[in-house]
Amino acid sequence: MTSSTALVYDEEMTSYKLLWENTECSIEVPERISVSYKRLQDYGLAERCVQLPVREATEEEIMLIHSPEYLEVVKSTQTMDVEELRKTSEKYIAAFFHPNSYRCAKLSLGGTLQLVDAVMSGKVRNGLALIRPPGHHSQPSESNGFCVFNNVAVAAKYAKNKYNLQRILIVDWDIHHGQGIQYIFEDDPSVLYFSWHRYEHGLYWPNLRESDYDFIGKGKGTGYNINLPWNKIGMSNSDYIAAFFHVLLPLAFEFNPELVLVSAGFDSGFGDPEGQMRATPECFSHLTHLLMHVGHGKLCAVLEGGYHLRSLSESVSMTVRTLLGDPLPRLSGEMVPCFSALESIQNARHVHAPYWKCLLHDETRLIQEPSTKGLSTASRPHMDSSTIDEFLENHMKKILYAIPQSTTCILPPKADTSGLAINVQVEESTAASEQVKAAVSVFSQEDLVNESLLESLTKTLTAIDKITNRQTKNCIALSSNSSLSTQVALQHVTRLSLKRGVMCWYWRHGS
Ligand SMILES: [Zn+2]
Repeated sequence: MTSSTALVYDEEMTSYKLLWENTECSIEVPERISVSYKRLQDYGLAERCVQLPVREATEEEIMLIHSPEYLEVVKSTQTMDVEELRKTSEKYIAAFFHPNSYRCAKLSLGGTLQLVDAVMSGKVRNGLALIRPPGHHSQPSESNGFCVFNNVAVAAKYAKNKYNLQRILIVDWDIHHGQGIQYIFEDDPSVLYFSWHRYEHGLYWPNLRESDYDFIGKGKGTGYNINLPWNKIGMSNSDYIAAFFHVLLPLAFEFNPELVLVSAGFDSGFGDPEGQMRATPECFSHLTHLLMHVGHGKLCAVLEGGYHLRSLSESVSMTVRTLLGDPLPRLSGEMVPCFSALESIQNARHVHAPYWKCLLHDETRLIQEPSTKGLSTASRPHMDSSTIDEFLENHMKKILYAIPQSTTCILPPKADTSGLAINVQVEESTAASEQVKAAVSVFSQEDLVNESLLESLTKTLTAIDKITNRQTKNCIALSSNSSLSTQVALQHVTRLSLKRGVMCWYWRHGS
């Protein structure tokens, strides 16, 4: 099975923007994707991905979800002047059109479908579509919340039709309710839709009664729509992880999807002015990692929201890093969910208990009178952008420094490393080299000025130190004198007062 990760991006999707004053829509800027892509390049992540070209979605593909009448409206915006664009936009909620909107919406959707094809055909294992306009608010005949075509909903229908899929999981971790996706699939048991969203008992946009936890689907789709409303701002890593462990994952494993689509909005991340939540970028590594164990790892993450550029770009990077298979950073913060989060989790479990075996014996009761009701916390002053930037600058240094390398390989000089996916060489250390010379003299009387062996041993001991400091997970060392190497390594390990560990030796004869 392939282990590669796809990245869908095209600068052309930055070629539309808001052309008039509108505070509500002003946050959806072209830089959202260009800054995120630049961050992926800076971290060296973009070049490690399979770069998939975008393509335009066809009209037939758009109409898998959208009405011909709506398609005609969107198409007609290509030749409109600013006043006509503004009037057309005002027919919808929190929407704006530009002469390039139609072209970019087709690329955004087409890019999403390219990703689905690459994952379903086995060309890549997973991937991220860094696209705009987003999609999850869009409805069959309506633009809504900056969304033109519902990228993820069309992708689900497309995948069902083309690959004859019976079960698709959509995980919407954007901080807004993807009501468009809910409406489209609420009576469809082949699509399990999970959305958490800032709700504040209906006080937060889109202020819909049907965003609450007790809207669980209709008809045959009853039980296949999972809403987890957040009734307070400030939800943190522990709240998100608890929601995954206690609501999403048990149902997802029982559902056993053949494909996982993520409506990956990062306005649920730290510092975002919309979400006002506190989940730090590495939280998205953990959420991604958990989802990689569902649906045989076939995962397509598709960008939705995310409006603080630094926060968005760091969270996107952590997601891609994890899709690529890099080790997870340690999750920061207290690992105790807040009471309001537990209320929401308990209520969601309770209303779904009749429909899922994994919740059959769940004894949680509905919390009928939420203690937080009516207490909007939205008026709490939000941090200014430069404070958020400064926090993230320091936080990412700590997080990225702490990420262990997967495997450290210590090979003889001039060894052929072309077949190795990971070859992290350990740096030279003069001090360690002196220690090794002293250690070697204990075991051998020979004149051991074999520079190659000494260098290999020095690096091995340094790597052992890195394992104990959690800077690398494990180490493979090749040595020309394995007997001596193991003795020196064991002597070093006994000094470290470790409680337990595993060392394997493999002797290869005849070379
Ligand atoms: Zn959003």
